[in-house]
Formats: sequence, C-alpha cells, structure tokens
Amino acid sequence: MNIHEHQAKDLLREYNAPVSKGVVIYSLNEIDEKLKELNSDQFVLKAQIHAGGRGKAGGVKLVTNIKDLKLEAKKLFGKILVTHQTGPQGKEVKRLYIEEASDILKEFYLSCLVDRESSKIAFISCIDGGMDIEKVAKENPEKIITTKIDLKNKVDEKDIDKILNPFKFNNDQKKTASKLIEALYKILVEKDANLIEINPLIITKKNEVICLDAKINFDDNALFRRPEIIKLRDLNEEEPAEVEASKFDLSYIKLNGSIGCMVNGAGLAMATMDIIKLYGEEPANFLDVGGGASKEKVTAALKLILDDKNVKGILINIFGGIMRCDVLAQGVVDAAKETNISIPLVVRLAGTNFKEGKLILNKSGLDILSAEDLNDAAKKIVKAIK
Ligand code: ADP
Ligand code: MG
Repeated sequence: MNIHEHQAKDLLREYNAPVSKGVVIYSLNEIDEKLKELNSDQFVLKAQIHAGGRGKAGGVKLVTNIKDLKLEAKKLFGKILVTHQTGPQGKEVKRLYIEEASDILKEFYLSCLVDRESSKIAFISCIDGGMDIEKVAKENPEKIITTKIDLKNKVDEKDIDKILNPFKFNNDQKKTASKLIEALYKILVEKDANLIEINPLIITKKNEVICLDAKINFDDNALFRRPEIIKLRDLNEEEPAEVEASKFDLSYIKLNGSIGCMVNGAGLAMATMDIIKLYGEEPANFLDVGGGASKEKVTAALKLILDDKNVKGILINIFGGIMRCDVLAQGVVDAAKETNISIPLVVRLAGTNFKEGKLILNKSGLDILSAEDLNDAAKKIVKAIK
C-alpha cells in the first residue's frame, strides 16, 4: 500500500526526522485558515497523488506570495497529472500540500528497503538526487551506493558511515543524517514498510539537512497488524478493479493485454501469463482466485475480468487441489449466464472432480472451449480471439 507525501512526512516527523512545515488542503477555501500554521512567505505547492515525477509534470510549484499560491492551487485542483509513473490516463489531483519553500544548495537521493534477495535491509544513497535520478541510475550507476545490513536492533556506525559517505557532509550534517538513517530504519521495521524513499534529501544554503520528498510503501500482508497505517489508505488512488478484488479477497493486478486470466495459485497464474506471451498475446491481468475459491468468488472474478474493456478472450486455468473443479465449473456457468458473456472462453481443468467439472461445462449450453492442458488452452484462446 502506498501513502501520500504529506502522510509520509507526518510519519517522518513522528520519528523526529527533519521535514519542513506543511499543511494539506482538500479545497481552496481552506487556504487562509491553514496558512496561519506556517510562517514563511515562500511556499511550494505540491500535488498529492500516489506517483512520482510530479515535478516534471507540473505538479510542484514554487510561489512567492499568497495571491499566486491561490491562483496555482486553483489550477492544480482537479487537474489530471500525467507523470512517467501514472500511465497515460494520469491521476486527478484531489489534495494539495503547501510546504514552506527551502533554499536548496544540493539534492541527494536516499532510500531504505527490504532486499528480498539477500534477506537484508538495504540503504541506497547517491550524491546526485532529485528529479533526474533515473538518468543517473542509467548513465552513472557507479554513483549509486547500496549498503546492505542485517536485521538487528540498530544500524551500526560503520554502516551509517558507508551510507552517508557519498554525501560528503560536515559534522553537524552528519549528526542529523545519522539520526535520519536510524529513523528510516525504525519506521521500516516498526511499520512494516517495504520502501521509504527520500528524493531529494537536501542541504539548504544554511547547511540544514531536510527530507524534501518522501514516498513510503507498506507490506500489504502486514497491514492487519498496523491499523494506524490502514487508516492512511486512499482508495481514490487505487485501481478500482483492484479495490473491488480486495473485497472478495482475490489477488488481482490489472495489466494492459487482451486475454483475461483466472487461475488458482500465484505460481500457476504466472505460468499462465508466460504461456500466453509465448503464443504471441498479452495477459490482461494477473488473477489468483486462491486455493479454496467459492462460487461467489469465481463469479466476482469473472465479472472483474469482463469489466476490463480491453479483454477479448478469457482463459480459465484451474488445478483442483483443495478447490473442486465441479464447484468452479458451476461458478463459471452461473457467472457466464449472469454476465451474458460474449467473448471466447477457454477452460482448462485438472485435479479434483475434473470430470464432473467438464460435464457441467459441456451441459451448460454455453459456448465454452474445453482444453486438455495448458499448452492447448493457450493455443486455443489465442486462436479464438484472432
Ligand atoms: P517528485 O519526485 O514527484 O517530482 P518532489 O517532491 O521530489 O516531487 O519535488 C520535485 C522537486 O521540486 C524537488 O526535486 C525540489 O527541487 C523541488 N521541491 C520540492 N519541495 C520543495 C520545497 N519545499 N522547497 C523547495 N523546493 C522544493
Ligand atoms: Mg521526488
């Protein structure tokens, strides 16, 4: 789960990390009241959407007086921001963060994340941070320093030195930055975050160290024990189909292809997507209905797939272990009738009660293509949509 920059900064503040003063607004008429909390005459107006690249897309504006602030805020509210992370459809700006402007001397990159490959916590630091970090990573990867540390109570000094080394900080800056490293580490562990990214971390002309941007992503599987984090969820920012899927406990990820997939088990779902690609088409989604999916779940899953207008055909691939193929088949038949399905549907069933399942499909009177195995299924659906 992602959260907004202003929420990430509140969390950083809670852990005594250096962030500037700012206020969030949801409408123009809050401006006067909220500005009383700030004491600056230069502000940065920042569109709050769950995507980076806002600066380059016109979502971050420096304003030097209240009149301009209101003018820019009016332009930003309701604007569809298209950044390199939003996809072409963009994201609508529904809240703004008004932050005291900093006098930037230099921008750095700093992040902290769970490195699954090494089972360690990795800190990534780079002397050149800011809006062109992707370019630096591509053209000067040697500038990006990764420090992997074992999960323990504290980050030790040696590691902190290594993380901060590229920044060439003076002693005061180092002191602040060391505390920041400890705070990031603590947030990552105590809040079950996957990633905390500060880009840019800056030093100001007065030599202060400040986190000027903050993005935090949390582990969905740990949210059940972090009610204070769940409260920060903004459903407006999430793919509507994925929100709907989560209501039925379905793991659904929308993709851009034309073949909808319904599979039980994440590994089998990946294999199904791979084989669709092998036969020259693209999957429209990842969808794992889980091991013991009920009829209701199957119906919900099929509706989700059909709601995607890019879908030209559906491949259902079920290996019945705990799941019974006859239950699934009945779910598919009911859902197909309910939704008046008019696109090709290929079903491959194997495992528990697959014979009974096939019988239900055959007797349904629906135009369902039955497949022998995964290869056959992929070939049939690709052919059927052509
Ligand atoms: P994004 O990463 O989405 O583009 P950032 O929050 O990193 O958004 O802002 C983009 C750039 O805007 C920063 O690299 C920085 O140069 C500038 N900026 C952001 N916040 C402030 C601020 N409070 N004061 C001065 N400049 C800022
Ligand atoms: Mg940024």
